[in-house]
Amino acid sequence: MQTGRVYLIGAGPGDPELITVKGLRLIREADVILYDGLANPEFLKEARRGCECINVEKRPGFQRVQQDEINQMMVDFAQKGLMVVRLKGGDPIVFGRGGEEAEVLRKHNVPFEIVPGITSAIAAPAYAGIPVTHRGISPHVTIVTGTTASLEGEGEVNWEGLAKVGGTLLILMGTRKRSEIARRLIAGGHPPETPVAAIEWGSLPLQRTVRTTLGEIGSVEMTNPAVIVVGKVAAMDLDWFASKPLFGKTIAVTRARTQASELVQQLRELGAQVLEVPTIAFAEPENWREVDGAIADIHSYDWLVLTSTNGTDRFFERLFKQDRDVRALGEIKIATIGAATSSRVRKWHLNVDLEATNRASEGLLADFGADLSGQRFLLPRPEKSRDVLANGLRERGGEVREVVVYKTGMPECLPEKFLQLLQENAIDLIAFTSSSTVLNFVSLLKKTGQNWGSLPAACIGPITARTAVAQGFDVVVELDETSVSISGLVQAIAAYC
Ligand code: SAH
Repeated sequence: MQTGRVYLIGAGPGDPELITVKGLRLIREADVILYDGLANPEFLKEARRGCECINVEKRPGFQRVQQDEINQMMVDFAQKGLMVVRLKGGDPIVFGRGGEEAEVLRKHNVPFEIVPGITSAIAAPAYAGIPVTHRGISPHVTIVTGTTASLEGEGEVNWEGLAKVGGTLLILMGTRKRSEIARRLIAGGHPPETPVAAIEWGSLPLQRTVRTTLGEIGSVEMTNPAVIVVGKVAAMDLDWFASKPLFGKTIAVTRARTQASELVQQLRELGAQVLEVPTIAFAEPENWREVDGAIADIHSYDWLVLTSTNGTDRFFERLFKQDRDVRALGEIKIATIGAATSSRVRKWHLNVDLEATNRASEGLLADFGADLSGQRFLLPRPEKSRDVLANGLRERGGEVREVVVYKTGMPECLPEKFLQLLQENAIDLIAFTSSSTVLNFVSLLKKTGQNWGSLPAACIGPITARTAVAQGFDVVVELDETSVSISGLVQAIAAYC
């Protein structure tokens, strides 16, 4: 069997968008992913189905998996012919032992590639508004480890010498030994007033910047993981991240995982910490007979009406599974409700002929006009849905065939992390995007015996809000019929927070 290949990939400092295009592509293709504690677990969602994801987290004083074991795993998997991704926080080389791992791979004749990542040493200061070099202030940087629990063969750091070199010092893994480090830097000639900034959890919603001086460093609290910046630039404050409107807020988003991404993405864009709390699970319909029948007959319809992103995917997945291609669709026109549905249709390389100007079914009916006699409509839909659209089309003389392309149900339970934060009163808001997310959330939470206390709720529209109020939620954000949309919801949440 041919030997596989190992990719030593830098995942970036934490923000899941700070990974390279190449790194993300390889994660999506991998057979096995061995990931570190500091690599954002968000990336694992990108792994393909069947990819084995193994946590090989190492923490100071607590090793879940020893380095030797990691080395062995990489070699073993690759020798089985698998494509292995070794995912590390920041850059794989910068205090990431990527060099050692590459040596082991070379020794075992395992082909490997190194995909650099954005190191936290540079990224955390950037997210705190501290430029690590700055014209006229600091012409060079030194990245240095603050541990003296040194790796074999690693030299002792000459802190006194570093003080004499000047420029900017970026200290990783330095919080525990910070007093000793400061003492030696001062002994080497750095004045005690030298500015210091420590950036904890850089580029993540938990980011915190502690500002102090070398002389005072021992008396301020700072925790790992943090990058400590020493030098004149540490006094600069070009903050842009911590001042985002939702920075420091924790928002729970209840939706089916596959649907949540747009809302989650937009809230994160505004700086929020977003917890995904899936309350809806999708399943296949009882059987595909009806759908297959409609697909076989698709050329006889005038309109294919798609009302959700999920319905769109399920329908086209089924169609293309049957050795058919776009030609099967013939002359059929496509109508949608909602911009999100339209953009999903375009992902299947198809154009939308009519998009409802108003999001709801009523809007689409109005766009179709009053007389639909002789027109044939195909409506892929979930098992349970409002009948407004199908009935309305029939009333206008249209011939309608509805086919069930998916069923909705409930996931088994709520995520552990959400329940824990709820108990700690650490969630600022919960967002609901439909009545069923409210009802499912309530019944899933009841199973745990926990209560949502005074957790405020944001609702996408009046129907959802009514359901939430009936369940006893304090609805603090509610959109009216005309502004129902994901971006409308995000704006309203930002205004409330
Ligand atoms: N290869 C990594 C560094 C691994 S050593 C990189 O290039 O970033 C682990 C240390 O990195 C931590 O102790 C901390 O000093 C730093 N670190 C990693 N992620 C960080 C983050 N998001 N914010 C601040 N420091 C971080």
